[in-house]
Amino acid sequence: MLDLAARSIKYLPGVGEQRATLLGRELNIHSLYDLLYYFPYKYIDRSRLFTVAELTGSMPHVQLCGEIRSFEEMGEGASRRIVAHFTDGTGFVDLVWFRGLKYLKNRFKLGEKYIVFGKPSLFNGRVNIAHPDVDVAEALQLSTMGLQPYYNTTEKMKRAGLNSQAMAKLVQNLFALAGAVLTPETLPQIITSKHKLMPLSDTLRIIHFPKSMKELRDAEYRLKFDELFYIQLSILHYAKDRMQKYVGHKFAKVGEMFNRFYSECLPFELTGAQKRVVKEIRRDVGGNHQMNRLLQGDVGSGKTLVALLSMLLAKDNGYQACLMAPTEILAEQHCATLRRMLATLPIRVELLTGSTRQKERTPILEGLLDGSVDILVSTHAVLEDKVQFANLGLVVIDEQHRFGVIQRAKMWAKSNIPPHILVMTATPIPRTLAMTLYGDLDVSVIDELPPGRKPIATRHIFRNRADEMYSFIHRQIQEGRQVYVVYPLISESEKLDLKNLEDGYRQLCNIFCDYRLSKLHGKMKPKEKEDEMRRFASGETQILVSTTVIEVGVDVPNATVMVIENAERFGLSQLHQLRGRVGRGGNQSYCLLVTDYKLSEDTRKRMEIMTSSNDGFVIAEADLKLRGPGDIEGTKQSGIAFDLKIANLARDEQLLQYVRDVAREVIEADPECNNPYYTVVWERLRIIKRNNNWNWGAIS
Ligand code: ADP
Ligand code: MG
Repeated sequence: MLDLAARSIKYLPGVGEQRATLLGRELNIHSLYDLLYYFPYKYIDRSRLFTVAELTGSMPHVQLCGEIRSFEEMGEGASRRIVAHFTDGTGFVDLVWFRGLKYLKNRFKLGEKYIVFGKPSLFNGRVNIAHPDVDVAEALQLSTMGLQPYYNTTEKMKRAGLNSQAMAKLVQNLFALAGAVLTPETLPQIITSKHKLMPLSDTLRIIHFPKSMKELRDAEYRLKFDELFYIQLSILHYAKDRMQKYVGHKFAKVGEMFNRFYSECLPFELTGAQKRVVKEIRRDVGGNHQMNRLLQGDVGSGKTLVALLSMLLAKDNGYQACLMAPTEILAEQHCATLRRMLATLPIRVELLTGSTRQKERTPILEGLLDGSVDILVSTHAVLEDKVQFANLGLVVIDEQHRFGVIQRAKMWAKSNIPPHILVMTATPIPRTLAMTLYGDLDVSVIDELPPGRKPIATRHIFRNRADEMYSFIHRQIQEGRQVYVVYPLISESEKLDLKNLEDGYRQLCNIFCDYRLSKLHGKMKPKEKEDEMRRFASGETQILVSTTVIEVGVDVPNATVMVIENAERFGLSQLHQLRGRVGRGGNQSYCLLVTDYKLSEDTRKRMEIMTSSNDGFVIAEADLKLRGPGDIEGTKQSGIAFDLKIANLARDEQLLQYVRDVAREVIEADPECNNPYYTVVWERLRIIKRNNNWNWGAIS
């Protein structure tokens, strides 16, 4: 059998050296296998004939059969065109070309039967079809035409003649090659027959050249099944491996620090959800396995406290803990919070960031090595090789999406036995995505806010009503509250007609001349940023004008108004994150989304979702549906090659859950991977791991 993956695309009839380079560069198609798995993005039904009488200006592509009665040249200059008056006996339609006028007149014969294919539109009250495909009727076998595949190609490819039709021709050539259709099966018969899946070789032919919609759906289902099944299998298989290989530090007891904190220092009762999650963590770290847990909790749900309790467990069992934050401001805030809450306990908390001076750095590094530092709060700075621990037992990573796989792997290397890992995120990753991205992480959810929180009132405001908003802000400040104003950009961009931060700041300084304003953006030095942040946090300034640098974690309970300028520029998750900066104290808080009057359908939906829900999970699901998974915050930075060829996480959630169970069954049925029934599965898994297309395994 021809090894498709090993055979370069350039040997396929119709390709050659130049086109091979183009296919490789533009579409990442290098081998015959790559082409076979380059699926059409849509199909058009060419098995059906329409009549001219049926046509309207708002139809998709249609096919007609009839003759050309006459030609007419019309227009001048750029609008010069040739019109063919075409009829099938039920009426007339104009076929229009703007190019190749001479050639066309010679090509078509009046009175001959043609099949015309194109998209009808309305022009001057008449239906016409611009630049249709026209073929002699006898040459086409309508009944066998089925659905015509459409392939995405790039501008460069089109210029070289590689348009969708040419791609279809190449795929045809591929199928014509001896043996090409005999693609090795990727699923064993025991699975295909149980789940009623069609054989792979049929599937691949059908996905390119389906005869009917029904056939196409079945082929798509089979391919999605395949794709999702192997993702889940690699994740679950890796997880099983890890369970067997890695012993974890055992935090056997709940000791003095945990108990004293609980009874002496805790200023409030834990919420039910917090209690449940702490229990889940205790169960993990109390066993013999290394914990890998993802803690999801909406902004303000109290994740820090859960982290603190977990770190006390580490301390009580003789281990050090490290809390990692994505920015220095956040690390500093966390450190201050921990020190305040632990003030009466003999626990040493230190802060280490990129801007920690050498003089302070040395004793901290020494303290980490001799074990006298119990909790280290840090940023990426902790990843440096110089930072070594005596006995690191637990790493808590706050706001996970800023730390990729590689960073986490570096933390592993800081201890002989890998530390327990708790990843906390306030960007609620929808369940489907979490299962796929973090399939081997156990997931805990804090789905309850501390009592007494008032939902944040969210309003969508058009810019021409901004004056009312400003008087509202005045009243809030007079009542002693503080205000955030967020802009999406920091400098004028020609393309995006955005009101930038500098302009906005000057304008607000004029409007609110009785108050003090802070300004914060990403181009400022860390020291300046912190000074400004501190001025706002201490109440010295009343309004903080900023870019999205305040997005995560910042905690100023007295701030009650969040104004988001050019809200249309932000994704849903980001809007929700920003909104989470207010509503942290006892006062009613507000989020004001400011946009232009003219909005796209998409933006209008986003504003609607924001004003109608305060629930991060609802918002994340909606985000996934609106934007598609490739675009969700976090997935890009997470370092995972994320290219599903056919499955769609937003749409195929049910199938994903289904195949996860199938994958689990396979692992249970054949734990030693030596049952001949499943040979195909393990062989395929081995190939996938070797090609390392999916780097799921490295996530932990
Ligand atoms: P996040 O999950 O966004 O990190 P935090 O841990 O910063 O949330 O908590 C938000 C606020 O809620 C903090 O001021 C914290 O002290 C408070 N908090 C946390 N848990 C509780 C609780 N069980 N009851 C009352 N307030 C709480
Ligand atoms: Mg937090």
